[in-house]
Amino acid sequence: MNFQRMRTVSCFVMIAGLICGVWGHLGLGAQEVSEKPSAVSEVSPKTQIPYCSVCGKRCTGRYSVLRNANFCSAECIGKKFSCASCGVTLGVGENAAFSTLKDIQEKELLFCGTCMEKPGCTFCGSRKETALLPDKRTACATCRSLAVFKTEDARPILESVQKMLAERFGFPVNPSIPLKVLPYEEFHQHRKDHSSRSDALALHLTEISGHTWLSDDGKTLYVEMNSLDSGMLVLEGAPGPLVFDAIAHELTHEFLRRKFYHFADAKIEEGFCESIAAACSIFNGHPTLALRRIGNPDPVYGDGFRLIYPMLQDQGWEAVMEFLGKNSQPMKEYVREHIHEMLDSETAEFIRKNKLRPKLKFGKIPKH
Ligand SMILES: [Zn+2]
Ligand SMILES: [Zn+2]
Ligand SMILES: [Zn+2]
Ligand SMILES: [Zn+2]
Repeated sequence: MNFQRMRTVSCFVMIAGLICGVWGHLGLGAQEVSEKPSAVSEVSPKTQIPYCSVCGKRCTGRYSVLRNANFCSAECIGKKFSCASCGVTLGVGENAAFSTLKDIQEKELLFCGTCMEKPGCTFCGSRKETALLPDKRTACATCRSLAVFKTEDARPILESVQKMLAERFGFPVNPSIPLKVLPYEEFHQHRKDHSSRSDALALHLTEISGHTWLSDDGKTLYVEMNSLDSGMLVLEGAPGPLVFDAIAHELTHEFLRRKFYHFADAKIEEGFCESIAAACSIFNGHPTLALRRIGNPDPVYGDGFRLIYPMLQDQGWEAVMEFLGKNSQPMKEYVREHIHEMLDSETAEFIRKNKLRPKLKFGKIPKH
């Protein structure tokens, strides 16, 4: 009799569509320019006449104020406020309203309305020098320059995430956790096999395995569990900071699997993983990746983040661990309850027919 391997899968998801929502949340949406008459007629001209923030000249005629800075002319506005994609001057005429966003390097970029209508970078939303990847995703020049395509390029990222998780959160380190960077087709085959989301960037896989045998009197089926293996798959082409964030999310699944095992409510598990990944991205100098999550409309990832992150902030680590403990099922309990699903069909049928009550014996599962 074989013990069928059971797999669980978790995934990291990046939702491009939520980016605009979060920008809205952060109040970084369209900006308006206001024009003011020059204060040239004021009593104390020397102090009252504004200076152009670009060329430094006094604005003796009409001048513009944009984001609290003065500009003598459209030309000077263009030097500070131009579309990062097409170069058009922003803040004047047809482009009075424009959008601000941060690329993956946290650099603030401005875009005109026309460029914002074009497809944005899958990873950061930027419209600057975008190109189609062979798998039809769109990537901007900055994200392409930081893209991770090989497993050996992802390894050092994994190691720095592990170091951070150990230092900041006391996660046990498993230095030999398998990691693979896969091309789109292969990655999405795995994704489909585990019915994970179409926008997943990384997957965490867990396998528990063991074997079964019958007692001499044929009345008891022993099930021995002896290993819990896990591994990570990363989709190629994402920029380093996002891979860092995705790996932090997946390693948090690893932590949860070994400490608590099973969560019936995916929102709690994903919410905790999203919260730890967000914190790691902040420590890693990429707060934008954390802020995106605030407005994520997803009922599992978004709601989960909004449930767990404030809990970590307000109630602290121990309270969250207690909450996770109450909302999870340890491996032994879970396996006992789901033993029929975990056995191969022949064994399951044999048990049913003979009304056997399987006894479970658990081997020692390593802590990491
Ligand atoms: Zn996940
Ligand atoms: Zn000027
Ligand atoms: Zn433009
Ligand atoms: Zn990008």
